[in-house]
Amino acid sequence: MRFPKSLQWRIAIAYTVLIFATMGAVSLYLVTFIRSSYVRDLDARLAQEAALAVDAVDDHFTDPAYAADLDALAERLSIASQAQVTVVDAAGKVLADSSEGPLVAEALLARPEIRDAINAGRGSDVRRDSEGNDEVRYAAAAIVIGNETRGAVRIAAPTSEVQGNVNRIVTTIGISAGAVALLSVALGYYIAHRTSRSVRSVTSGARRLADGDLEHRVTASGTDETRDMAEAFNKMATRIRDVVRDLDSESGRLKVVLDTMVDGVLVVDSEGVVVLINASASELLGVRAEAVGSRFAQTVRDHDLQRLVSTAQARMAATQDEVALLRGRRVVSAVATPLAQGSTQGVLLTLHDRTETRRLEETRKEFVTNASHELRSPLASIKAIVETLEGGALADPAIASDYLSRVRREVDRMAALVSDLLELSRLESGQFRLQQLALDPKDLVDEILSRVQERAKAAGVTLESVVPQDMPPVLGDEQKLVQAMFNLMDNALKYTPKGGRITLSTQSQGKLVRFSVRDTGAGIAPQDLPHIFERFYKADRSRRDGGTGLGLAIVKHTVQVHGGNVSIDSRLGAGTTVAFTVPVA
Ligand code: ADP
Repeated sequence: MRFPKSLQWRIAIAYTVLIFATMGAVSLYLVTFIRSSYVRDLDARLAQEAALAVDAVDDHFTDPAYAADLDALAERLSIASQAQVTVVDAAGKVLADSSEGPLVAEALLARPEIRDAINAGRGSDVRRDSEGNDEVRYAAAAIVIGNETRGAVRIAAPTSEVQGNVNRIVTTIGISAGAVALLSVALGYYIAHRTSRSVRSVTSGARRLADGDLEHRVTASGTDETRDMAEAFNKMATRIRDVVRDLDSESGRLKVVLDTMVDGVLVVDSEGVVVLINASASELLGVRAEAVGSRFAQTVRDHDLQRLVSTAQARMAATQDEVALLRGRRVVSAVATPLAQGSTQGVLLTLHDRTETRRLEETRKEFVTNASHELRSPLASIKAIVETLEGGALADPAIASDYLSRVRREVDRMAALVSDLLELSRLESGQFRLQQLALDPKDLVDEILSRVQERAKAAGVTLESVVPQDMPPVLGDEQKLVQAMFNLMDNALKYTPKGGRITLSTQSQGKLVRFSVRDTGAGIAPQDLPHIFERFYKADRSRRDGGTGLGLAIVKHTVQVHGGNVSIDSRLGAGTTVAFTVPVA
């Protein structure tokens, strides 16, 4: 048989065995003790009866008249004492006996109790009866008349006489012991159940805690120890919950900090597995945030970064490099720093996006190149003209005056370029104050028309304006808006051939007013359209009088500082519409 494993059964069985053993031992002792005291009592009673019988039998020995009655006397004594009564003479010959049947003929001197009584005054013995069934107890006393021992009286009773009493007591003890044992077993089972219940509830509580249920508490019941255990468990659970919460909020804070960081952060462990990646790093590397747990080399398929990480690991020193990511769309400054965590070697990779800085640097370089280029051609022309003049042309007044007016035109071009550059740089740097006022769109349109009227007439181009009644006033810097519109008008005039038409119109669009300049001119090729607002961009580079390429860039920046938008729509050969919006005052 297998011993049951549950704590409850172990306690209950141990308890039951102990109770049964104790009750058994106690009952056995009690029964033995009671039986022997009963037997002692019986022996004492038999001895007493023998002594009393001697007194009664006395006369029958002294007075021969009574001798014949001895048998009847023995009978009476037997009834009174409820025992067998035997009278013998000094030789052990039976004179009378209370039992049925004929008297025993043999002398009973061989019996120890008779022999002792005749020799020493009294005697006793215990032995099996003649059939060997029952144990019989004997007590005998000597019949002494004068100084002479004349015989003895013997009283005999079976031990079984006390057995009935003993049996009753044994039964009582047995029943009580059984009842006590059963009660104790039930109590033991109950206590075991209570004790193991607490253990079970703590066990299941620990299991739930392990499964993540940090709010689970066990109920404290039962004995002091189990309650102590439950309380200790609950205290531990609360402590664990607090620690986990602290860690959670700590890691939450860390996560928020990492995810709001502009720089990319990524941690690779010694096995090359990504253990942390923030949002910026995911974006810069073009990987998903689930990259955590995957291999760095497989997730980030960039040889430069992999080399950087392994170099840092090998050299045990921070390593830095500039790396192009996302097929060159991004440039990052990457720093790999070894992280020593005990014996393992992770690497912290930080990515600082340098794309915008790079772009600005490029733009600046390009700007300087473009500006120098734009300035070089007028300067070269002026130089050539001056050399020609020096070479003798000055002597011819007609040629000289023509050359001087050419010099003037080149200088004007340079002045226009420089002033455009200054304007653009002021707009871009934001170092100026807009003189914002509420302006009537119609006034702005009239102002432009008056400026270009003459030029349009000379170029044979029709000018028209569409300004609806009750246009709301706009909020803007008059001088800057007029300049922007003038640039658009200037372009339209430049690229619209004779017989064309230029329409300047305004339109109310909720909180904005839209100004547009539409021409029926040359139009712009689709491949040029996306770049048209870039500075120095010219769609048709062959045209010598094409301008600086800054006009539309200035328009775009002017409109943006006013809080509006520019748009362009053009078809080659069909005409161009450039429009911008300005907020209503
Ligand atoms: P520019 O001072 O050279 O006119 P812009 O920035 O104003 O410089 O214009 C850039 C280029 O866009 C021009 O060189 C021209 O090719 C093209 N462009 C601008 N406006 C028009 C227009 N209305 N029709 C056709 N082409 C235009």
